[in-house]
Amino acid sequence: MNDTDSADMSDDDDFGLDNDLTTANSNEQTPIIIEDLTTAIDISVPEELQQFDSSKFAQDLLSKVGTSDFQTCLYQHWRRYTPLCYTYHPNLVKGMIELRAQDILFRPLEIFLYGTQDTENAIQTIKGLNNPPTVCGHLFKSEEPTYFCRDCCVDATCVLCTECFLQSEHRKHRYKMNVSAGGGYCDCGDTEAWKQDVHCALHKPKNDQEQDNNDILERLPNLLKIRAGLLFEVLLNFSVQLLCCGDYQETPVVLRNDDWDGNHDRYVTMLFNDEIHTYDQVIAVLTRSISCSKQEGHEYASVVDREGRTAVRCGNLEQCQEVQQMIMHHTVDIPLKCRVYPKCFVSLQYFAQKLMLYMQEVIAISDGFRRLFCLCEMNAKDQLTLTERILLAENVLWKSAKSVLHQIFINSFFMDSEWKKTFAILYMKNYSTIWRNYVKDHDEYVSFTDLSVQVYTVPSLARYLISSHNAFQTIVEAFLEYCRKKLNCMYIKRIVYIPYRSLTVILFSFEAQEKLLFLRTTTSMVQNEFRRAQSILYDLKYLLGIVPTQYTPELRENFLNGFTSFLRLLSYMHGMDKVVRQVGQHIEFEPEWETGFNIVIKIQTIIQSILEWCSQDPELSQKAYVKTGETLASMQQNSDISHMIKKDASPIVKISVHDHKIECYSYDVQKDPISVHIPVARLLAAIYIHLQRYTDPTATFHNLCQQYKIYPCFFYEEALRIQVLSAQHIAGLWRRNGYSLSNQLYFYSNIKCRKEMYDRDILALQIGASLTQPNTFLVQLLHKFGLLEWVRSPENGYSTETETKTREKVRIMEEFLHLLIIILGERYEPYVGQVMKDEKLKREIIHQLCTGPLPHSELVRNFTDSGQEVGTVDLESVLKETADFKKLSHTSKGHYELKNDCLIDYNPFYYHYTKADQCRSEEYVLKRRKILGLSSLLLIPSPPAFYDSFQSIIQLLQCDIFLTLIKAVLHRTIDQKAELWSEAILIRALHLITLALFEEERSFHKQQTLSSNVSSHNFQFCENSQKYGIEKLLTQLTTATKAETCKEFVSHILKSFNKFNEKQNVRDEQSSSLTVSQDFTNDTNKKAQKEKRRKELAAQKRAKIIAQMTALQKNFMEGNKDLFDEAHISTGNDSLSPSLPSSLIATPVLLGTESGMTESMDTNFPEELYAKERTNQVFQSCLGTTDLDLSSQTNLILTCIFCQENSEVRLNSDAIVLPAYIESSRTLSKNRLRKIENPDTFDPSFMSNDLYWGIHVSSCGHAIHASCWIKYHDSVLIQDQRRVLRMRGATNYDVERGEFLCPLCQTLSNTVIPVLPYLRSFAGDIKLTPPQMSYKDWLDGLEKALNGSIESRYEDESHEEQLFFNPCPLSSITKMMAETVAFNFQLLFGFAGGSKVQEFSDSIRERITTFGRSIYTLGLNVDPDDDNDRVPTILWTSCAYTIQTIENLLRIDSKSILSPLPLRQTELISALVKVAAVNGLLHDIDKIKKHCLKLLSVLLPSRVRLQVPSLSDVDLFHLLVSLCFTIPILFTNEIPRFAHVAIGNLNDLYLMRLILTAHCLQILSSHNFIYQQDQNISESLNSDTINTDDDEEIEAINSVVQRIVQSQNELISIECTDVNEHIGQSILPNDGKQIIERLCHDKYTKKLKWFMGDNVWYMCQRETLTLKLPKYRAITTDCSKNSEFNSAIFNECRSNQSCQTSSQRLLSGRALREKLKLSLLPLLRCSAIFYHYLTGIAWPTISTTALPDSPSEYTMICQYLGLPNCLSKILNQNNDNNLNDLVNSLTSSDTITSRDQINTVPLIYPMEVNELYPLPKEYIDLMNQVSQGVAPYKYARDETRSPCICLICGEIVVRSSQTNRQTSVSSLVTTNHPEANLGPCYLHTLRCCGSVGLYLRVKECSLLVLNITDNGRGNKARGTLIPTPYLDDYGETDQNLRRGNPLHLCEERYHLLHRRWLSHTYPEDISRNMELSASVYATNWTLF
Ligand SMILES: [Zn+2]
Ligand SMILES: [Zn+2]
Ligand SMILES: [Zn+2]
Ligand SMILES: [Zn+2]
Ligand SMILES: [Zn+2]
Ligand SMILES: [Zn+2]
Repeated sequence: MNDTDSADMSDDDDFGLDNDLTTANSNEQTPIIIEDLTTAIDISVPEELQQFDSSKFAQDLLSKVGTSDFQTCLYQHWRRYTPLCYTYHPNLVKGMIELRAQDILFRPLEIFLYGTQDTENAIQTIKGLNNPPTVCGHLFKSEEPTYFCRDCCVDATCVLCTECFLQSEHRKHRYKMNVSAGGGYCDCGDTEAWKQDVHCALHKPKNDQEQDNNDILERLPNLLKIRAGLLFEVLLNFSVQLLCCGDYQETPVVLRNDDWDGNHDRYVTMLFNDEIHTYDQVIAVLTRSISCSKQEGHEYASVVDREGRTAVRCGNLEQCQEVQQMIMHHTVDIPLKCRVYPKCFVSLQYFAQKLMLYMQEVIAISDGFRRLFCLCEMNAKDQLTLTERILLAENVLWKSAKSVLHQIFINSFFMDSEWKKTFAILYMKNYSTIWRNYVKDHDEYVSFTDLSVQVYTVPSLARYLISSHNAFQTIVEAFLEYCRKKLNCMYIKRIVYIPYRSLTVILFSFEAQEKLLFLRTTTSMVQNEFRRAQSILYDLKYLLGIVPTQYTPELRENFLNGFTSFLRLLSYMHGMDKVVRQVGQHIEFEPEWETGFNIVIKIQTIIQSILEWCSQDPELSQKAYVKTGETLASMQQNSDISHMIKKDASPIVKISVHDHKIECYSYDVQKDPISVHIPVARLLAAIYIHLQRYTDPTATFHNLCQQYKIYPCFFYEEALRIQVLSAQHIAGLWRRNGYSLSNQLYFYSNIKCRKEMYDRDILALQIGASLTQPNTFLVQLLHKFGLLEWVRSPENGYSTETETKTREKVRIMEEFLHLLIIILGERYEPYVGQVMKDEKLKREIIHQLCTGPLPHSELVRNFTDSGQEVGTVDLESVLKETADFKKLSHTSKGHYELKNDCLIDYNPFYYHYTKADQCRSEEYVLKRRKILGLSSLLLIPSPPAFYDSFQSIIQLLQCDIFLTLIKAVLHRTIDQKAELWSEAILIRALHLITLALFEEERSFHKQQTLSSNVSSHNFQFCENSQKYGIEKLLTQLTTATKAETCKEFVSHILKSFNKFNEKQNVRDEQSSSLTVSQDFTNDTNKKAQKEKRRKELAAQKRAKIIAQMTALQKNFMEGNKDLFDEAHISTGNDSLSPSLPSSLIATPVLLGTESGMTESMDTNFPEELYAKERTNQVFQSCLGTTDLDLSSQTNLILTCIFCQENSEVRLNSDAIVLPAYIESSRTLSKNRLRKIENPDTFDPSFMSNDLYWGIHVSSCGHAIHASCWIKYHDSVLIQDQRRVLRMRGATNYDVERGEFLCPLCQTLSNTVIPVLPYLRSFAGDIKLTPPQMSYKDWLDGLEKALNGSIESRYEDESHEEQLFFNPCPLSSITKMMAETVAFNFQLLFGFAGGSKVQEFSDSIRERITTFGRSIYTLGLNVDPDDDNDRVPTILWTSCAYTIQTIENLLRIDSKSILSPLPLRQTELISALVKVAAVNGLLHDIDKIKKHCLKLLSVLLPSRVRLQVPSLSDVDLFHLLVSLCFTIPILFTNEIPRFAHVAIGNLNDLYLMRLILTAHCLQILSSHNFIYQQDQNISESLNSDTINTDDDEEIEAINSVVQRIVQSQNELISIECTDVNEHIGQSILPNDGKQIIERLCHDKYTKKLKWFMGDNVWYMCQRETLTLKLPKYRAITTDCSKNSEFNSAIFNECRSNQSCQTSSQRLLSGRALREKLKLSLLPLLRCSAIFYHYLTGIAWPTISTTALPDSPSEYTMICQYLGLPNCLSKILNQNNDNNLNDLVNSLTSSDTITSRDQINTVPLIYPMEVNELYPLPKEYIDLMNQVSQGVAPYKYARDETRSPCICLICGEIVVRSSQTNRQTSVSSLVTTNHPEANLGPCYLHTLRCCGSVGLYLRVKECSLLVLNITDNGRGNKARGTLIPTPYLDDYGETDQNLRRGNPLHLCEERYHLLHRRWLSHTYPEDISRNMELSASVYATNWTLF
């Protein structure tokens, strides 16, 4: 049983008030972990303890068996040793420490119990005596997953644990997952909990095991039994004596040592927990009383909170008492509880707690032990059993002590069904005391009252307790005790004198006048008490939850006893929270109303259960009915009498209308007090319904009235008053009564309460109508509504009052008619109408769906909330019947849409509709009907017939008053001037007429079928209405202008009239084919007319709206004219593109919603623009040409989003900038183990091949003037300062880090990036003939330059030669060249600018410098330092990294690089590349030159060895980008100009070629590249087409491979056998950990780390390892300790590796070529993107459908980059010395050393895009993965403790129980220890993912996105929680597992998450989510 329900209810069903109250206590939710008390011992163990011999003492004990000395002996031992073994740490905060306690205190007990030293063995033997368990009884920890089966569970508290669930049949059923609140246990094997499949496979009873369990004790050896009994008794006695005593002096004398009393300094002051004082208060008190630091104070406070108490002072009695006094003195209001104890007493108590834990272990060993222990617990002492003593001692127990005792009950009594009953009886006996203790207790998080659910949910036990122990009444009385404290004795105006009744009645009636009263002013303590008391009602709910099938007299009697008490409760509630209409002034204080409704919600289910109990038994229902009636009668006799009545007068007035004289209650809703709480009347109505099954309720009712002198109208009087109140409220009469009343009326009819409130009132009115004369009933209603004038003078529709009053009256009339429709039309309640339960459900669903399609969750919520016991089975099948489930896409929610044929059942006056629902549904249904071509006339569908006893209600429809009323309405419609009229009134009246016609029809048919002339049942509306001329009036209506819109309706009714008139005439001819409800559809003529009119109206309306819209649009367009210009990079033409504006103004992404999953920010660039650009271009290579086609490059014109002005982008004007966001990133990292250790000294010159760090830049692409931006930014700063002053909560941007939001789209940004003109446009005056120079010469030149620049210097101090670069001038290099070469070389590099020299404007220069600075500081996380050598070069890294990210993104979307990028990305890269290009010009050339040489030295041979990374370790794209920008500057002597900007000339072509060559070699020599590994790759590639230079190419590759193999021979032998060798050489098979650590360095075996965890099989799925799955499962199940495990891993690895090495064949040449090309593609794609944006040369016009990774893309890119398509040209060794040099450098010994560095992983080509962790398909599998290995904790919801899966590396991140001690509470207090404050996800993010972490919080089912904004330097983080990619069958997410449906992974959603991660949009998403959630309090995300 698991008490999930109560947790649910308190979470959701309360009105927030309760929750508010508990916030003060929320800081008290911390776990209780006794074990943790022990801390490291740094105290020397006393001599006395060291010498203790436990076995000797045990022998002593053994000899005492059977003697009375046994207990004394033990007690003496404990008296002496316990205070020594458990002593306080010198630092008191650290609590108790243990010194040899295990040996001295526990070991002797063990030896004694088993009678031997070899206890291990003995335990095994005893375990063998147990029967295999057939029940599970697993105790749930808090937040452990539980499983509930919708098909088989008896009630909602039956749950299974994970293990049982997986082994049970229910896995295949419709299960539900939930999260336990802790404390419940698994019901597997409990026959009362399951309808079927009681046992899981683990707990299935064996065939012969059905034998009785009585021999449990017999099975134990006799001596053992005696010893165990003896020992258990002493231990339990001891523990109870010590724990359950209020005063330490109660301790037996024999346990007191010398330090008990007297003058010694071994006293302690003990501080106890309470709910009143906050942490801060406690800390404040402590700092003053014991003068500790704030930090210490906090530690004490958290111990108190966790344990329930803590020692705060050690010393002598005086000192301790002084502290006690101070603490009590210093606390405000109620003093903190504080006691002074001798230390030895505390030690004994501590030991007692430990003993109880020990006992739990012991009784778990054997069934026999458990039974013996139960016996002991039932030992009586001083008339109380030990159990009772414990149960009653809650008020003296503290948290941790309570918790152990609680657990021992669960582990003893509840594991044994017989003892459960014994315990239950004891529990029941002491019920009220237990609750009294609990309610008074300030420490409510553990309580014995929690045991209730375990007792009452066992049906047989519950029934037994009711019938034999009067449980029902006991529980209700326990609650009444608290209600009585809340009673307000109302002043009684009059006491009814009842002559034949004695004094007792008057007393009773006096009590009934008492009402519950809740005040806002009550102190929080009292409120808390009452809130706790309310939990008693849950017990009642459980107790009555299951209805018996058989009733015994005792059961009946005791049920009625309970029922009587329950009625008392209801009578207290009846009439509570009364209100009086406020006139004149608005009320001053909103009265309290929430508590009342909270109780209503809680008793709803109880009333439901009571009714079910009654309905099953005639006797019970009859008696209950009478009892309720009696109570109601007494209430009536004492009820409030109207202010209009004099004392002692009858409350009844006589009203006369025409000939009728009618008795009415003289009560005026407008003036007299009124309450919406009338539970007694409602209960009577509910029982009345059930009574019909057995007796004639009408007779019973009249009996009741007679017997108790009830006025029959009292039955529905109060219900009626509430309807009047509601109508008046709608009409606005109660406006001055404020929100309190509005809220009450809202909840009155809201789904949460309506079942017991509104619905019952309608029922009461229906019953009233059925019991009363129709005229009487209607007059009573009209009287109460104040509408009698309508029938008194129907023709007079004129108002003498003010316009407002008139309007009010009209509104009230509308509401009255609506109520009549409801009373007459709502017959879908079983026994009211002739319907079944499922018809009611069906109708409800249809009407829900008539408001529009709904997702499953909303539908379900609307049904479970109402407390309706709708079995989900019904709901599902009815849903199938009435609706279609529609899903638009995989990722979106599915919706239920109403079926067409259900539309006919729509009733616009459906009683559960709010006004808003009514409008919405009408609109929706009309829309649907239009599609189907149905008429727009919405009629009420014909209701089902009334049940017999209600049949008389329909008489209302033909009574005089009704017809007069209708006449009045019709007359006033015709009367143009009548003011007391409205169209709504007319429509309602017409609907009432239709209802009457339905009845006429029904009665007509009935008469025909019955063929008897029963005139009494005859219903003749038409005939009766003749008297009132209704038909005539209706005919006149057709021409009345007021009825214009209802014409169709009127004519429809008239037709029916005619039909009936005909029928009357030809009655015998039996024309039975007519049905009223359908004939309107035939009337096509009328329909067409109506339609036409409607269309006209609609057209008029539309025209009006369009006019309005255009006006608005015009205004907007004028205001923001430039926004509407085509994009904002217009190519000069100002054509207005209508499709753009809306997409340009990007809408904020709401991450938490469905729409947020799509990339809505990526405004797509219009396709046509690209098409245009492409079609007119010839295929042009972008590199190596100087044929600068400038025609396509017109000037850039951008529109500033701030000032809306257009500006041309120029070098010498004000800069235009884009907001951008810079972050350091590790997204692309192939190596999570590696990170930048020290950013201050880190050298970013080279990017490592594994991309383990990087700097990413993103932007929303919105242009703004730099000057405008500065203005904007300044205002942001000012705003921020104000914000601080106003104490607002979290901001979604951090001004301290320079963050701001884009003024247009609110995207998070932290810098701006300047936009520059096209590079070629300002470098374009270089009109030169292309230099004629070969690649070889070019290379040669650079090599010369490199070598010429290396200089060495001899360091004086270190006596070492230092190498450095001194860039040598161009002239000295050209000297070494042939003349022509020298000339061309000079031409290529040395050109010194054109004639027109442009300069940067200051603004642009400044923006570029600032941007560079931002990259440096934000990218590397260092302080700004403009002189740092790294500043000039770091910008290029960000450029390369960002392009690589974009390439990755395109790749996961399987897109070609030609495919158009989102606008924001094109804008960004284009700006970024241009800024990177000119960056070098702004810095010291010497630095740039040196940087260039350093980069070149990786690619070119140098004459001396330089300290640079090996080629194999360098990312070549980064190298390319940096070199591209630095080479042009290499030979300048002067200040560089724009001529030195790379624009794609020969330099770039040759550089590209050099890089490509290097990359080929890098790949070929990479780890295992040239060997066969995966058959699949080579196969698929071999099938490619062969081209001509095939052989040549292959040959070239082969020869290179030959060389590599040759020169790497030695290296390969180390590399390829890696793991195998490593293991073989160095790992000791005994040390599993070491193996794993080793293995982690290898790419293959890295995954093995994951095999170690719980998630074995999923990792297997992902990896292509050949390891066998079952084997691994076997390994992991018996986990890492034993050596078998080690050798298993070892063998597995060896076999896997050896098969690899043995089959190590070289790949075929062709396969190699294809694999190589594939591997080259990422670099080529990046380079193409790079040069495209650098040169501006258009993409080739090849179809964009070409897939990435395809050979055609390879060819295309080579062509675009001007590279040879054939690899042979690149890899031809014969004419390329450089190639040889490169091969040499790759194989030099340096490489080996650098590769052996720790934390490097061999890279595998082709390099793949980083994936997210492959999640399992089913969510439960994920739950199971994390359910193990989580620290146990109870009653705590701590953010930091939920296990999370890092989606980036797959590791399970959870805080260990050790660390959470310090941190779980510290969030509430600012501490000085920042490290202690960091959450596990925060720490993991720093280690694993860099700045953005993605975690799936498994138990909450939500996704945590964590963004660390400063790399852990200042502990700044922000985050957000979003739904997981798991969806249920209805396509809905389930954040926090609120619904618990089975969830499945949605791949599409996961892919979107992956995309967002790669595209670095999470910081932005988080910022947007923060903006949306706008919580007042900032969440401290570092704690996650
Ligand atoms: Zn279980
Ligand atoms: Zn089981
Ligand atoms: Zn099942
Ligand atoms: Zn501007
Ligand atoms: Zn923007
Ligand atoms: Zn991770």
